[in-house]
Amino acid sequence: MNNQTKFPNTKDINPLIPICFFCREEKNKITTVSKLEGMYKDTDTSTYAILDYEPCDRCKAIMKSNVTIVGVSETPTQNGQPPIATQSGKEYYPSGEWLLMKSEAIASTFPSMPEKEVEETISKGKLLLKSEVVIRMAKQVEAQN
Ligand SMILES: [Zn+2]
Repeated sequence: MNNQTKFPNTKDINPLIPICFFCREEKNKITTVSKLEGMYKDTDTSTYAILDYEPCDRCKAIMKSNVTIVGVSETPTQNGQPPIATQSGKEYYPSGEWLLMKSEAIASTFPSMPEKEVEETISKGKLLLKSEVVIRMAKQVEAQN
């Protein structure tokens, strides 16, 4: 960059295309195949950005009537990643792993979870777990299939 005033050329115009955190598809545009390896806009050249953890309409439809288990860690996966939740002063960042579980399977999968918490989890439709746990669960599911 120099100090000269100039009209922006197309190179300077850097539109942001919001993508869904869960499926990495462009929001409101499910046919696009563009995928992102990394997350979040951490370079000036990146066009795609995860702006929030709100699922796209397609993911919303899949998540409906299920519980989405989201893997989180206490450290961001990339600079500038916003936390998905704050609990007792600790920030939790989704690490990218997630899976769906039928609501009726929550109680039997987490036998030590108090009944009230099971009910809350089902009504929220979301459960945050350590990413290692979610990876282990996903491997178990894979092994069963
Ligand atoms: Zn999605």
